[in-house]
Amino acid sequence: MINMETVLSDLQAWYAAQCDGEWEHEFGIEIKTMDNPGWSLRVNLEDTLLEDKSFGEVKRQDSKDSWVQCFIEGKYFIGFGGPHQLTELLTIFLDWAKTEPDWLAVQYETEEQARDRKDKELWAVLGDEVGPELCRAENCTHPHIRYSAFCRRHHFEMMRGYAPPEDV
Ligand SMILES: [Zn+2]
Repeated sequence: MINMETVLSDLQAWYAAQCDGEWEHEFGIEIKTMDNPGWSLRVNLEDTLLEDKSFGEVKRQDSKDSWVQCFIEGKYFIGFGGPHQLTELLTIFLDWAKTEPDWLAVQYETEEQARDRKDKELWAVLGDEVGPELCRAENCTHPHIRYSAFCRRHHFEMMRGYAPPEDV
C-alpha cells in the first residue's frame, strides 16, 4: 500500500537535496494533467546522481483509466498515467531514486569543475565592456568594463592569474 504522505515528503526531500543555489534555476520537476485524461510527471535528472542511471521501462494497462508508463528520455524521467495514478508515478520514480545507496547525496563536483563554475560566475559578474575609455593594459584595444579600468579579459586575468575559460 502506497503511503501518500511518505511519497510527498520523499519527493520534497529529493527536490530539496538537489537545490544548491543553481540547480533549481535550470532544472526541476513538472507535474501536469493531460487530456487523456491522466497525469504526466517530468523530472529533470541533469546534474543529479540519477542522470546516467539505467531504468527499465515500466508499462502496464489494467483498464481504460488505470495505466502507467515510465521511461527515461534524454536526461528526463518521464511518467504518464491515468487519473488515479499520480501517486504511483511518483512512487516509481522515488523507488528508483532510492536504489542509490545514498539517495539524497548530490553529484560529486571535482575541484576542476568547481573552479570552472566559479570562473564562469566571475566572468558573468564582470559584465560588458562599456568604455568609452580603453582598457589600461598595454596595447589592449578593448573598452573597460563598468567597475574597472581594464577590459573583461584583463580584469579576469588580474584577479585569477590565468586566462578566462574558452567557452565563456
Ligand atoms: Zn584589456
